[in-house]
Amino acid sequence: MNPKALLDEYEIIPKKSLGQNFLHDPNTLDKIVASAELSPDDTVVEVGPGTGTLTERLAEHAKRVIAIEIDERLKPILDEEIIRPYPNVWVIYQDVLTVDVAKLVYPDSYVVVANVPYYITSAILRHLLEPAHRPRRLVLTVQQEVAERIVAKPGDLSMLAVSVQFYGQARIISRLNPAIFWPRPDVSSAVVRIDTYETPLVDVPNADAFFRMVHAGFGQKRKQLKNAVASGLNINGAATTALLEQAGIDPRRRAETLTLQEWAALSRAYALPSR
Ligand code: SAM
Repeated sequence: MNPKALLDEYEIIPKKSLGQNFLHDPNTLDKIVASAELSPDDTVVEVGPGTGTLTERLAEHAKRVIAIEIDERLKPILDEEIIRPYPNVWVIYQDVLTVDVAKLVYPDSYVVVANVPYYITSAILRHLLEPAHRPRRLVLTVQQEVAERIVAKPGDLSMLAVSVQFYGQARIISRLNPAIFWPRPDVSSAVVRIDTYETPLVDVPNADAFFRMVHAGFGQKRKQLKNAVASGLNINGAATTALLEQAGIDPRRRAETLTLQEWAALSRAYALPSR
């Protein structure tokens, strides 16, 4: 059933503060599910089922769906529209950022499909990608500008792009018109698909060392790397220049120009025993 009609029937007013823009176009919903390439054996985690329009399609294509929704006002709708007809769906009413998703699904491999609440997109990505037992694939509807940042190439990379591309290969599946959401959001949206790597793309001492270096590099916008890294890691200028040269990186370059391989080389140089 159409989200607006359901919300009206249950007298629920969408909350902007929870990123509640409901997707009501059946073709787009079908396309999102198709791009997840689910098999009947799959476990799917959905963040923010809302009125369940995406959830019902996921339930039809997967073995089980675990949906995590913060807004308990939606429970009567989800009970009636989803839980009753689809016994393979389980809804947890909690803030997704407080749910240990990896533990919940372990040892099953899993896929995440969600039209995410935009106000916590980066936090959701970190929360899902950082655990060792991470999703095999994520198909996420996000703000278009965020999707473009996620898939950016060296020259335009950001902390967000490096954080996602470290774990998986990301691409934009389609761009969505705001008119297919209710209430209509102020921004355009896009569907991004991330296929996580089974073995890491780059060779790093450990993810912590890698991200400490990346944080330092991006810590001071538009600064040359030698200044950003020196201040971010609290080491002197000469030592920073030596470190960058050891990794084969010109100290005058800026963080957004480095490839993931170069960030990895830098974190390896920093982790050498002499330091
Ligand atoms: N899946 C539905 C759809 O496509 O129409 C709703 C998507 S809406 C953009 C985002 C959903 O995430 C809302 O149902 C909202 O209540 C829920 N949400 C917001 N913050 C959340 C959080 N921290 N944890 C879990 N769900 C959250």
